[in-house]
This record gives sequence, C-alpha cells and structure tokens, in this order.
Amino acid sequence: MRCGKVRVVVKTYKEYIGSSLIVTKLTACPDPDCQTIVDRQLVKDQKLRDERELANVRRQTEAKERRTHNISQKAA
Ligand SMILES: [Zn+2]
Repeated sequence: MRCGKVRVVVKTYKEYIGSSLIVTKLTACPDPDCQTIVDRQLVKDQKLRDERELANVRRQTEAKERRTHNISQKAA
C-alpha cells in the first residue's frame, strides 16, 4: 500500500457480529523496513482510537451520573 508492493495476508480472523460473519484480513508488506513504518503508524492510530474511546466512555459515564443525580434530586 505504502510502497506499492502487493501486501501479503498474514492472518485471517473470522468472527460473528450478530448473525453476520466478519472476515478481517491482517495484511503486511513483504518489505520489512516498510512494514516497520506501517506498524508504527498502526500503533499510533490505535492509541488515538483508544483515547477517543476512553473519552467517549468517560462522557457517557458522566452523563449517566448526571441523570442519576437529577433523578435522586427529583425524588428527594
Ligand atoms: Zn511496503
């Protein structure tokens, strides 16, 4: 992808999400140097995704707490 070489499938993951089978193919560049760069980028991307996900969860938890707080205030 990055260097134009044909990527090789390293691993194939199969998982069911609901009733549909999702096949995820893990591909890698046959060029180790290029793959190292790609891997580094992937780690960076994953970190960003994790942080975003964490922020999302935190926001949801806060919203839930606020809601619970409001309800208990109303009950009191
Ligand atoms: Zn490459």
